[in-house]
Amino acid sequence: MLTRFAPSPTGELHLGHAYSVVCAYAAARAAGGDFRLRIDDIDGSRSREDYVAGSLADLAWLGIDWDGAPVRQSNRLGCYAAALDDLRARGFVYPCFCTRADIAASLSAPHGPSGAIYPGTCRGLSAATRDRRVAAEPHCWRLDMARAVAEAGDLAWEEQGQGHRVADPAAHGDIVLARKDAPASYHLASTLDDAAMGITHVVRGADLIASTDVHRLLQALLRLPTPIYRHHALVCGADGKRLAKRDAAASLKSLREAGIDGRVLAADLAGDRLPAGYSLQNP
Ligand code: GLU
Repeated sequence: MLTRFAPSPTGELHLGHAYSVVCAYAAARAAGGDFRLRIDDIDGSRSREDYVAGSLADLAWLGIDWDGAPVRQSNRLGCYAAALDDLRARGFVYPCFCTRADIAASLSAPHGPSGAIYPGTCRGLSAATRDRRVAAEPHCWRLDMARAVAEAGDLAWEEQGQGHRVADPAAHGDIVLARKDAPASYHLASTLDDAAMGITHVVRGADLIASTDVHRLLQALLRLPTPIYRHHALVCGADGKRLAKRDAAASLKSLREAGIDGRVLAADLAGDRLPAGYSLQNP
């Protein structure tokens, strides 16, 4: 068994991250398996080295160690570009020149699990128009969802302890796989990394279960193995809402600095025992 924890260094880790890492770590160690760390630092404008350092300090405080060197997404851009080239050559992605405002202004933009469903404005551009505009205009690359789904057929994954779950990637519409300022989306990078790292069990929060629809589709298109998934309950605050990076009170740094014993906290979290005022909830 090989599990991983993959923080994005765009803020301080909080109790929700602690619960997540403890779940992934405990699963691997209980099975005599390995546990890896991945730094999801692909978003160059929001990722910060002080958050990386802070996250490593939080994990050490929790008593979590990892096997091998942490994987950095920022070191793997060539791999993401190669996968995008492959999808492009096979006609599964197209360039999109729409701005956010263009999409918001579209009357036919219903919402799916990943936000507004792209109305498809740029999907039908001719090859000549695409080539001309790609050379001259900012653009992102979108997955042609209908083509992708037609190629992949019916998809499912094993949700640990719950049997198979049917993936519904079509509900997401033509998602973005790469843009100029972020050369691979979370979906593309995470799917490729989990495969390259040989992750057998992806243990992560239930807020990401809809993303698994897309990851399962990308696995099929890119001929990657499908790990087993476990989407765990989310840590919520007294208001019943799940913790966010802005909830400073629950930040691991503040707990660490308040003198709380991280190893005791980790053991409690491993037994689903949360500090007063917090609870676990399934969305
Ligand atoms: N970097 C992602 C996050 O923090 C990782 C999600 C995942 O585990 O796939 O939400």
